[in-house]
Amino acid sequence: MSVSPNFGPRPAGVRPSFVILHYTEMPLAAARARLCDPEAQVSAHWLISANGVAEALVDEEMRAWHAGVSAWRAHDNLNDVSIGIELDNPGPPGGSPPFPETQMAALEKLLAAIMERWAIPPENILAHSDVAPDRKVDPGEKFDWRRLARSGLSVWVDSEPSSVPAEDAATVAAFQRAARALGYRVEETSAMDDATRAVLTAFQRRFRPFEVGAPLCAEAVRQAEELAARWPVRR
Ligand SMILES: [Zn+2]
Repeated sequence: MSVSPNFGPRPAGVRPSFVILHYTEMPLAAARARLCDPEAQVSAHWLISANGVAEALVDEEMRAWHAGVSAWRAHDNLNDVSIGIELDNPGPPGGSPPFPETQMAALEKLLAAIMERWAIPPENILAHSDVAPDRKVDPGEKFDWRRLARSGLSVWVDSEPSSVPAEDAATVAAFQRAARALGYRVEETSAMDDATRAVLTAFQRRFRPFEVGAPLCAEAVRQAEELAARWPVRR
């Protein structure tokens, strides 16, 4: 039985194949109340408190309302195909203070169970900012994706910061191609347009947290290409 009234059926025959991570950006009690308020029209399947208590708010079989307008690979409207997890973290945008150890341990335990239950591969564990790069920043650059990947719960390729911006047409096109192969919804325009800038910043939040907002560089392209090559699209 779902605790929150904010859910509906998934499309016929659709099972969850993605997990989307969020942070609440408000105190725990307020976040819980909002996720259960019929007026708010938002919800998530799980809410994990800063001290590591995971509460189920919506049954995983059902469609919760956490992703909003969103896209990844061929999917529009990620709520249809995903399980949403809200992490209790007051913000500010970017996610600070850092997510506590107890909360990360609880998340790892929950993620492993969800991935087992629904046969979800590690490349399908995503940030809200990945699927809505023009309007969302959560769970932010303070969130430790590398740690999740070490436990097989996400994907990761190490990289170095770069001080050499490279936003010429060829480098931008290479980034757009690699980001698209990874799953980001971006057109191959060869131009650093607003949509591409938003995807670059989302990519940095995930994989280059030491330079969020920096210009494109060849190292970011290499990293995106290696990620796409190591975790090719399965669905
Ligand atoms: Zn979110």
